[in-house]
Amino acid sequence: MKNFDEAGLAEPILRAVKEEGYEAPTPIQREVIPHMKAGEDILGIAQTGTGKTAAFVLPLLTRLAEDRKKPAPHTCRALILAPTRELASQIADSVRTYGQYIGPSTAVIFGGVKPGPQLRALSRGLDIVIATPGRLEDHMSTGGIKLDATTTVVLDEADQMLDLGFAPAIRRILGKLPKVRQTVLLSATMPHQIRKLAKEFQTNPREISVAPVSRPIEKIEQSVRFLNSSSKRAALQEILSEKDIE
Ligand code: AMP
Repeated sequence: MKNFDEAGLAEPILRAVKEEGYEAPTPIQREVIPHMKAGEDILGIAQTGTGKTAAFVLPLLTRLAEDRKKPAPHTCRALILAPTRELASQIADSVRTYGQYIGPSTAVIFGGVKPGPQLRALSRGLDIVIATPGRLEDHMSTGGIKLDATTTVVLDEADQMLDLGFAPAIRRILGKLPKVRQTVLLSATMPHQIRKLAKEFQTNPREISVAPVSRPIEKIEQSVRFLNSSSKRAALQEILSEKDIE
């Protein structure tokens, strides 16, 4: 798959991608889109900036567009889990942009805001829910959402979710999903705990890894000094007072 026309995306989604001005899929998109469209489980290493969001959102929207059934109240067809409200909101923006011509029903669920509007959205039944694990569990415990009709789940920035202590919540959430489902796990790094999670919750995942696109800027000279915390300030002052510092 070298260009988006060969990606097998639904026409309204392809149109939205072209309007964004994307000329060619990024490496992670080239790898993920066909397998995700085919319903396979995916274990992917991808950093922010690689185009990873579109890599899972475009095939997800295509599958929804090709099978437009109305979700039952308090259920969602696809669930995207993210570590922070910022990332959840960004993913929701992408879903809105790429899905503008099919108009999927979506809700973004995170803590720190009143639950009422989220509950109302969930009660209608949704195509896609994008959530942080903590608030999602709150809604699960009150019956606001049931995951027994959710056939696709994406864990974005899984390593960061584990760093934030969400491992138990993720296990409980995944345990509530149907056994037959698609599980996509994306992570910037692949520590042992991520592999363990993949082993527990994925079936023959396709492993995909792309090199990070961002590299240190070559014009910047880098060096390392080992210091005690207490001497950092003095060392910084010394560096900044050097004559040829720019
Ligand atoms: P992400 O890695 O998902 O955070 O995406 C990084 C940025 O790349 C976003 O601003 C996207 O709009 C942009 N992007 C995603 N896919 C492509 C593409 N195929 N061509 C050009 N830009 C893209």
